This record gives sequence, structure tokens and C-alpha cells, in this order.
Amino acid sequence: MPDINLVSLQWNDAASKCIETRDLFSGGVCSWCGSGIGERNKTSITCSLLPKSDFADVHGLSPFTPIVSDKLREILKQGSNGKIKFRPVETTSKKVQSFFEIINDSKIDVVAVKGLFYKDSSIVCPKCGRWQIMNLRAGKGFVEAIRKNQIPDEKCFLAGSHNKFGFSLWADKAWWKMISRRDNLKGVVAGSAIAVDDAEIISNPKLGKYEKDECRKKGRGLLLTQAFTEE
Ligand SMILES: [Zn+2]
Repeated sequence: MPDINLVSLQWNDAASKCIETRDLFSGGVCSWCGSGIGERNKTSITCSLLPKSDFADVHGLSPFTPIVSDKLREILKQGSNGKIKFRPVETTSKKVQSFFEIINDSKIDVVAVKGLFYKDSSIVCPKCGRWQIMNLRAGKGFVEAIRKNQIPDEKCFLAGSHNKFGFSLWADKAWWKMISRRDNLKGVVAGSAIAVDDAEIISNPKLGKYEKDECRKKGRGLLLTQAFTEE
């Protein structure tokens, strides 16, 4: 039985892309939410500016696509026994170090948890079907959740299917503590993550429709985090 003390690794830095989202996905881009449609193709992301941190996402690219430095890639390769796969990121600027996109081939579901499921920010795009579930713990903010019986044996792994607005990188808490002490990684934050029993899961959570016009009316643009429920 794997250890169930987990963290979800987060970033607070972004690279600037100079490639269109539509060129990176099999079905182009969703005219409603701006996300890539279908599967990620084999075209590399080209960035005009690489991040200063070891972990970042790519500005303006949805679904959220984390990229990692060479240093963090080596750690994740070892921690996942080679199961996490990567694709090189191209750049048009001077390269200080190499960056790699994490390829999302996760089969682990992200779930809605009874008592924590936050309806107002759990959304689905009415056009392409990409979705997002939010669980919130009072005073502690956003917490990601997976099923206990889906925790793999590896020290780090991915969770979140390809039709989500993004996936996340998870790690065994004790292992990650050890790595953070050993290596001087920049900009990698350990966020809240839990594994729950099936009885704690909402199997058919009611997701709000992502309403483009409502967002515009409120002057918020196309923010994926701004959601409006049907009720
Ligand atoms: Zn969409």
C-alpha cells in the first residue's frame, strides 16, 4: 500500500509562447473557451521567453501545460520510474537551460469530494467539453483529490484526463520533502492534495456551463476560473 500523504506540485511562473494553440492540437482550438481541442499533437511548443523557475506553465495556453527544467525533469524521471514522459520545448531566445513539456497520458481521475465540492468554480465548456472540478477546504483553499485505489506505487505521477482544463503533477509528501531539501529548485510549490475513499466521492458532480457572454458582460474576459452555474 503506497503512502497516502501526497502533495500536488504547483508553479508561479510562466513562459511566453510564440506558437498558436491551434497548431498544437489535433482538432485546432475551441472558439468558445480558447482551449486546444482533441489530443496534443507532436509539434513542440516554441517559447519566446523561458521561465526563470524550474517549473512553469505557458502563458495563454489552455489546457494548462506545465513545463519543467532539465533538472526537475531528471528528478521526475527517477521518481516516476520513467513513466512521466517529456517533449523538448523550443525557444527563439538565448537558452540558459533546456525546458521540457510534461506529456499528459494520465489515467488517474480527478474527483469531486462530498462536503468540499465547489459548484461555482466547477465548470464545463459547452462547446468542447473540457471541464474543471474545484474542491475547497474552508480556510485552506483549493485542494485536489483522487481516488485512494488509484494511487500508483511511484513517488510522483500525473492526474487529470486529457479533456480537463489542465492536469496536475502529484508527489509522495515525504519524498518531495527530501527532494526539496536536497535540490535547490526554484518556483516549485507544494499544494494541497488528498486521496479519498469511493464513499467520499460525488460520482456525477453538477458542473456549471462556462458562459462566454456572461464573462464579457462582467468585463472579465474569457477567464476559465469565472464560472456560472445553470441554476
Ligand atoms: Zn471549449
